[in-house]
Amino acid sequence: MIAPFTYVAYPSRVVFGPGKLAELGAELERLGVRRALLLSTPEQIALAEQVRQQLGDTAAGIFARATMHTPVAVTKDALAKLQSLGADGFVALGGGSTIGLGKALALRTDLPLVAVPTTYAGSEMTTILGETEGGRKATQRTPRVLPKAVIYDVELTLSLPPGLTATSGVNALAHAVEALYAHDTNPIIALMAEDGVAALGRSLPRIIRDTADREARIDAQYGAWLCSTCLGVVAMALHHKICHVLGGSFNLPHAETHTVMLPHVTEYNAPAAPDAMRRIERALGVERASAGLFDLNRSLGAPAALRELGMPEAGIDQAVEMVLQDQYANPRPLERNALRAMLARAWAGEPPKPG
Ligand code: NAD
Repeated sequence: MIAPFTYVAYPSRVVFGPGKLAELGAELERLGVRRALLLSTPEQIALAEQVRQQLGDTAAGIFARATMHTPVAVTKDALAKLQSLGADGFVALGGGSTIGLGKALALRTDLPLVAVPTTYAGSEMTTILGETEGGRKATQRTPRVLPKAVIYDVELTLSLPPGLTATSGVNALAHAVEALYAHDTNPIIALMAEDGVAALGRSLPRIIRDTADREARIDAQYGAWLCSTCLGVVAMALHHKICHVLGGSFNLPHAETHTVMLPHVTEYNAPAAPDAMRRIERALGVERASAGLFDLNRSLGAPAALRELGMPEAGIDQAVEMVLQDQYANPRPLERNALRAMLARAWAGEPPKPG
């Protein structure tokens, strides 16, 4: 039976396919952008240079200092560059960090942003912006940060190394898993989430075997788009909260933390979210969702333990207390002892276990 629901969709324009970066100029023209500032990380400046050549006069310049967690100080520098160049729009070429910078600029200027994602993390379809200032991360949701167009071009993902492929892919999977049991989920999102889990579940192991497998890369990018859409529309729960706490408190890397935690939080929520579990099991072709996700991580050679990521064992109790501080929707109520046992297993790298 279909449960009552509210369905929300944000305006989006997605251009998907091999070689579609060639259409960036046309997308900017459609938006009336005549001088675009190109954004990248220092590591991806070659891509920004290539796009500058491609765009000719439509490229106003490059700001190649995008940084993890979107520090406000970097955004201010980018804003100054934008103003000095007289840019009237921007293009984010990269992963969640670069797209985060693009969103921070969109929020401050209301100029159009085109996102060209090169990982699977999935910031491009969401209204979420997380920014850091003075060591604190503040997250907000506002449609003002949404890219006006998103170009998914598989060619830009071929350089993604196996480690980042695995962890940003599982980061995307986490959006779909939580969307399936979100308190505000709906039938459309459930379709997208299940297909997203299936696409990433079948493609990621192929890519790890051969990072140049274009067919699998296209499949993964399609899955990442679906998962990103899920993240943008419905509320995330315990998994995203725990990863936020662990990342913020122990300075653990974002995508790796998501990867380690996902099988464990899935097991924690399993008794309270049987329909979501059935969909994940169907999508992955496994008997138990949490075990399937754990085995998938293993097949990808992804990290399995929080201790590998640098978390101290003494941090387990601190993390539990922080997770318990805020009340938010989660299918299973937050139980101190069960949360502690779950985090202890994740810390040690043990498989998920009911409890
Ligand atoms: P990232 O953007 O930080 O990129 C990691 C590194 O990989 C960078 O050095 C980057 O230059 C490099 N890289 C990216 N694509 C590459 C490619 N194709 N080939 C070679 N190198 C490449 O990593 P990420 O996992 O995409 O993003 C993580 C950040 O995004 C976090 O700060 C997270 O909070 C944020 N995020 C935000 C949302 C949202 O909705 N706001 C969603 C997901 C993630």
